[in-house]
Amino acid sequence: MEFWFSEFHLPGLKYSLKVKECLYSGKSEYQRLDVFETEEFGRAFTLDGILMVTEKDEFVYHEMMAHLSSNIHPNPKRALVIGGGDGGTIRELARYDSFEEIHLCEIDKHVTDVCLEYFPNVAGILKSDERVKLYFEDGIKFLENKKNYYDIICIDSTDPIGPAVGLFKEDFYKLCYESLTEDGIVIAQSESPWYHLPIIKDVQDSFRKIFPISKLATASLLAYQSGFWSFSIGSKRYNPIEDFNLEKAEKIEKFTKYYNSGIHKASFVLPNYVKKIFR
Ligand code: SAM
Repeated sequence: MEFWFSEFHLPGLKYSLKVKECLYSGKSEYQRLDVFETEEFGRAFTLDGILMVTEKDEFVYHEMMAHLSSNIHPNPKRALVIGGGDGGTIRELARYDSFEEIHLCEIDKHVTDVCLEYFPNVAGILKSDERVKLYFEDGIKFLENKKNYYDIICIDSTDPIGPAVGLFKEDFYKLCYESLTEDGIVIAQSESPWYHLPIIKDVQDSFRKIFPISKLATASLLAYQSGFWSFSIGSKRYNPIEDFNLEKAEKIEKFTKYYNSGIHKASFVLPNYVKKIFR
């Protein structure tokens, strides 16, 4: 009998993957976790029935989170990923020698344990790089005790439901501002321009109140809702477009599969239906 995983996107729309085998199913204090071997996307990791990581396209999102932010700052030394327990964003940050400390604050240790077992190419860096330190706690509480510390913060959260609701709130972005050094940068996944424009508008409005510079970038991917995703950047000093460091990007693009200097610049060009949120 055929088994299909379906993610329900809108009342009249679902996205389905044919499953060869269910490799893992479990429940943590926070969410349900599943790992499937799929016919088209290789292994896929879902939380509460929503795709988080697939072997086929995970590089797009993780490269954008790490490189859009790291190639704006000339010499970032300390990075924090909030959420992101799969390790993909950390794997990309770890490509920069300038980082002395790379911290992960993931609320659910179960996520990291499952990804270490089933996605070693994504999560392996969490064990193999001695600059990486893991904290399993709520990202909001974690930041309350860290002031003026990080050069880069990546908010690699689930959708704004359950424990991630607070990660989309203005008060949390203020905490991020305070935890950043004087030229620090925050990047947040901010959902799909097709399905979630009001969320993107809220995140952008908050960033614009808090940070002297804020920008919105997008990327095309496969597994997240609608295939078109957004990233919000708040920066204290460096402009994501004007201060983009071409030399650093050209070094990194020898390793990347999606990100390159052209993508960096182009990702800030927005369609008119998205630009209208700024009017
Ligand atoms: N790339 C994914 C996406 O956009 O679908 C998100 C990655 S997923 C691994 C995000 C992680 O954020 C989850 O593992 C979840 O447990 C974690 N998370 C949710 N709320 C959190 C919070 N308040 N503090 C820290 N981590 C949180």
